[in-house]
Amino acid sequence: MTIQENIQDFQRRLHGTNCQLIAVSKTHPVELIQEAYDGGQRAFGENKAQEMKDKQPQLPSDVEWHMIGHLQTNKVKYIAPFVRLIQSVDSLRLLQEINKQAQKHHRVIDCLLQFYIAEEETKFGLDLEEARQILRSEDFAVLNNVRICGVMGVATNTEDEQHLQREFARLRGYFEALQQEFFKDAPHFKEISMGMSSDYRLAIAEGSTMIRVGSAIFGHRDYSVTP
Ligand SMILES: *Cc1c(COP(=O)(O)O)cnc(C)c1O
Repeated sequence: MTIQENIQDFQRRLHGTNCQLIAVSKTHPVELIQEAYDGGQRAFGENKAQEMKDKQPQLPSDVEWHMIGHLQTNKVKYIAPFVRLIQSVDSLRLLQEINKQAQKHHRVIDCLLQFYIAEEETKFGLDLEEARQILRSEDFAVLNNVRICGVMGVATNTEDEQHLQREFARLRGYFEALQQEFFKDAPHFKEISMGMSSDYRLAIAEGSTMIRVGSAIFGHRDYSVTP
């Protein structure tokens, strides 16, 4: 199938659900992103600030750029003017920098808190107690240019469906706990970003509102070529 057909296949599958597709375009050239765009896709995920910054001016201005990879504070400035959602917030320090850069551009930047749900030690993210500490803090209370819209997580790379289901259910549990404790009257706090090419069906069944799908749309990534 072509990229356009893949996009339309996902759009059909998600039609009428509460879940949207983030097409993960990292490592792929802008020509392929344009193909997905022509198929109707608007939300794209990148995991490197520099790569997103380079691609953004080469594509239509209504593309919604989602940062899904670990973001260093010194790179926030590259994406602050245009990024739609930073899904990978894992510290107060990063939120403070996002707030500072957002202020410079007179905007409020939407963010998700990234949680650690996998068993792999290399995965980034907060645990529930760390997230509570951030949200309770006075340092957070003064950040008027960031808005927390939900949670994000990357599951273990495994084919064990029960295991995956437990991890997705755990992330949904974190979402519900934070909603109850901090965001009761905040309708914008509604996103649970979970599920990738290999496990999005399970993630949707567990309440995902954003699946981040790369290889099932664009094919395999070749890390040896720089886009
Ligand atoms: C690369 C990436 C994805 C997409 O992975 P696929 O297996 O290609 O669908 C999703 N989420 C994050 C955080 C990623 O880095």
